[in-house]
Amino acid sequence: MNPPDKPGFDPQTAPRFTEIPTFMRCPLASSPDDVDIALIGVPYDGGVTNRPGARHGPREIRNSSSLTRTIHHVSRFNPFDACHVADLGDVRFSAMYDPETVARDIETFYTAVLNAGATPLSAGGDHSISYPILRALGRNEPVGMVHIDAHADTWGPFQGCKFHHGAPFRLAVEDGVLDPVRTVQIGIRGAQPFTDGWEFSKQSGMRVIFMEEFTEMGVSAVIEEARRVVGDGPTYISFDVDGLDPVYAPGTGTPEIGGITTIEAQALLRGLGGLNLVGGDVVEVSPPFDQSGNTALVGATLMFEILCLLAAARDSK
Ligand code: MN
Ligand code: MN
Repeated sequence: MNPPDKPGFDPQTAPRFTEIPTFMRCPLASSPDDVDIALIGVPYDGGVTNRPGARHGPREIRNSSSLTRTIHHVSRFNPFDACHVADLGDVRFSAMYDPETVARDIETFYTAVLNAGATPLSAGGDHSISYPILRALGRNEPVGMVHIDAHADTWGPFQGCKFHHGAPFRLAVEDGVLDPVRTVQIGIRGAQPFTDGWEFSKQSGMRVIFMEEFTEMGVSAVIEEARRVVGDGPTYISFDVDGLDPVYAPGTGTPEIGGITTIEAQALLRGLGGLNLVGGDVVEVSPPFDQSGNTALVGATLMFEILCLLAAARDSK
């Protein structure tokens, strides 16, 4: 027999089309102990306001990430050499139709990961999953955030429920686990039926870079501004793939035209090196709307970029 967890077996050395598809072909771990960076799937899309499907994101990102190689082509950094990176599987839900219980399950899972000393990097799921992740991360001290998205995700309750994918960062600020003054939102655009999310972001002190300002500033100036806003404190990266133009990421719930290109996104992420990064996520990949499979590949590649940042941040401590 050939168990995938056989001691000494390294799935990254196997042909990339073989074996059970873990994130980036990392070993599957059943516990965060001795793991530096935990890759985690959160297959939940009960918080979407329109097109669903992000619950299938982790599985498709795992599959597409079998294309991920180890050495970054610009920095020549190998995150797998610097850190013990493992796939911790998916968060399991005790009641998947109850958003409040799902949020509690996610928070409990991430609290255990953080208590073990691991840095979490997650694949959603819709963006509502970032709220309980931030509750775990910010439990002792509020974190700052670089948030790439077409949407501010600071809206109030929708259909009588606050646990939807347009609200995670309002909830996180209200709970004191996200520092709005150390938060930058990048790529915001698209018409809205009302404006309270944009207003909440502004009034709470977030730096909001709408897409038009992004284009006017250029990527280098956006990087400089993001670094200024988050400073030296602990910082989370949350990447909603709808921040990208739907030309690059059509497989998502709420696409908005006129967005960031993939090469701009890669440059932006690479510009965040050296910050005090404590975790990240890539959310809103919806495979049922991803006809070519390219959105899952984009999601997997963005995860690799963020992994390199998180591994370098740990390595420097
Ligand atoms: Mn979002
Ligand atoms: Mn969005």
